[in-house]
Amino acid sequence: MPNDVTPEALGRLLDLQAEDTAVKQLELRWANLEEAKQLAELNAALAELEADLDIAGKQRDEIAREQSRLEGEIKLLEDKTGREEQRMFSGSVANPKELSALQAEVASLKRRQSDLEESLLEVMVQGESATETWERLASERETTAVQAKDLGERVASIKNEIDSELERHRAQRGSILPDIPESLLKLYERLREQKGGVGAAALVGGTCEGCHTKLSNKESERVRAEGGLQRCDNCRRILVVT
Ligand SMILES: [Zn+2]
Repeated sequence: MPNDVTPEALGRLLDLQAEDTAVKQLELRWANLEEAKQLAELNAALAELEADLDIAGKQRDEIAREQSRLEGEIKLLEDKTGREEQRMFSGSVANPKELSALQAEVASLKRRQSDLEESLLEVMVQGESATETWERLASERETTAVQAKDLGERVASIKNEIDSELERHRAQRGSILPDIPESLLKLYERLREQKGGVGAAALVGGTCEGCHTKLSNKESERVRAEGGLQRCDNCRRILVVT
């Protein structure tokens, strides 16, 4: 590399480094956005609530079907008991044996009805509990959905902001590029790739800002006196005297 790099080109290289650092930080921020992680968790919770709600809804409906089945069966029994009782008391059955059979039949119908009424009571209690569960889950889902929507909007707005910042820095970068000789730019890009995104560093008060190592006075003076392309002895980054 010829050592005829001008101080202006080196100054612009530091400007370029500043833009590249800003871009890198913004990209990192975009990728590691805390709000985006929270949003993913919230969406996962929402999906789980939807699934639970679906199960709770099915259970509630199944219990409701069982309740109406029992109610229907009880109604039929009531009707039948009513008819048999009417027959019993109408005097149309005179035969004592037949009458006693009828009495036994009515008693049996009433026992059956009483059993079903007990089952119905249990099912109604289950139904209340299933409805409560469904309502609790539905309200939780509603709250979570609102939170997810709000956070989703916030994440989108933050990402938009980062995107426009990125665009600004990339445009700045593009406008700096023509001011830097190609060979210097190539070296810079190679170093930037090798050294965690920092290819050029300022020499401030005798200290390389790239690796924060203080150069010896002699070395520092030599760099200043020689000018042109200089590299840090320690980290090998391009050193720019400011
Ligand atoms: Zn250094």
